[in-house]
Amino acid sequence: MLLKSLELQGFKTFPDKTLLTFEKGITAVVGPNGSGKSNISDAMRWVLGEQSTRALRCSKMEDVIFSGTPQRKAQGFSEVTITIDNTDRRLNFDGDTVAITRRFYRSGESEYRINKTMVRLRDVHELFMDTGLGRDGYSIIGQGKIDSIVAAKSEDRREIFEEAAGISRYRYRKEEAERRLQKAEENLIRLRDILSELE
Ligand code: ATP
Repeated sequence: MLLKSLELQGFKTFPDKTLLTFEKGITAVVGPNGSGKSNISDAMRWVLGEQSTRALRCSKMEDVIFSGTPQRKAQGFSEVTITIDNTDRRLNFDGDTVAITRRFYRSGESEYRINKTMVRLRDVHELFMDTGLGRDGYSIIGQGKIDSIVAAKSEDRREIFEEAAGISRYRYRKEEAERRLQKAEENLIRLRDILSELE
């Protein structure tokens, strides 16, 4: 699984459509302070479904949209597409290339796409589960992240190992099944009440 490219439009410091392509090996981003280097990793987190504004260094989600300058008016939406080489099928997706797109409007409306097909956030979440790359993955190590891993409670640290061991997917499915079971039990109680009223 290789990161091929990142396309940004209207995201933070990138009002214009900007395409960043990545080759094999190490890529370094250099630039003056405040020029938008960290905004690139924010864009990666964001397109993978990050919902925490704190993790995105914003106070509200609208702050990911280019807010304008004295010379340039603000944008109405923000869109990021990340393209991944999936020839090794590390992602559970039948295609050599997977492109995930997230678009967010000032109105608060969100859209997610996988290879241009509209999907739900949970589809994106499930696609990256156990790969280490998703919203809860460990592939993006931000400033201070190492410290927080070392200082984390053992249960929190266990989540990182579970993701690496590839068992988060099963934990997620188990929780889903438990939720559905709980709902079914509630429905059964309601049904019994109705039945006893009818008898
Ligand atoms: P440093 O080297 O100091 O860590 P950096 O190159 O990583 O800096 P970033 O933190 O990526 O810089 O970018 C910060 C800049 O992004 C600030 O100038 C901030 O004003 C700008 N910025 C953040 N959100 C928006 C937005 N929605 N619209 C326009 N500019 C934004």
